[in-house]
This record gives sequence, structure tokens and C-alpha cells, in this order.
Amino acid sequence: MPTCRHCSSTYPREQFIHGNGPKTQMCVRCGVDQGLVSKEDAANMFDSGLGSARLQIIARRYSIFLYIPLLWTLWIMVLRDVQPWGLYFLLVLLAMTLLTPVWFIYRGGQYSGDLARLTPPYERPEGH
Ligand SMILES: [Zn+2]
Repeated sequence: MPTCRHCSSTYPREQFIHGNGPKTQMCVRCGVDQGLVSKEDAANMFDSGLGSARLQIIARRYSIFLYIPLLWTLWIMVLRDVQPWGLYFLLVLLAMTLLTPVWFIYRGGQYSGDLARLTPPYERPEGH
């Protein structure tokens, strides 16, 4: 993946503007900031609304991997010795831990679809 020569970030090829001279190796965001392309021409730039919608979908997909260790820690620290809720919570936690990878794989298609829906349409120009 190419690197922007202004902000040194690495993006897929689609996130770069086209042209020679000052427009060479410049990412869309830096191109708009520097006034090299207008915001309308940069169809591929994620504005803040689109960016936050994409982040929300990504967070929803991966947040479960944050919650499971958190709940295990809660069980170990607080609920392990509590009768009978410690046992009930353990069973729920075990089921959750075992079902999460299955659910994660099962929802993969929905996730790709949602992300594709929130990706601006882009046609790669000739020669790129
Ligand atoms: Zn840049």
C-alpha cells in the first residue's frame, strides 16, 4: 500500500488523488486540506458522518471480544464464590465464550455488506 508523502499515512490505492507534480502520492484527506482537489471531486473521502457510521459498525462487530475478558474478570473477582449465582453466571459465560466465534463468523457477511454500503462508489481511473 502506498504512503502519503504529506502525512506519511498508508492507505489503499483508492484513497489517493490522481495527477502529477504536487498531487503525486497525496492522500485524499491531505489533498482536500491542501486545496489540491475539491471536496466534491474527492468522492472517496470519508466525511465525519460516514466515518463515524463505519466506526460504529466495526465497533459493534469487535466489541464482544472486549466484553468477554471483562466478564470473565468480573466472574473471577466477584462472583466465583457466590452461591448459586456464581455457577449460573459461569454457565452463561461459558456458553457466550463458545458461541462468540460461531456468531462472529456467521455475521461476517452482514458486516461486509454493511461496510460496503457505507463505502462511496469509486471507479479506478485508467492506468491506476
Ligand atoms: Zn496524507
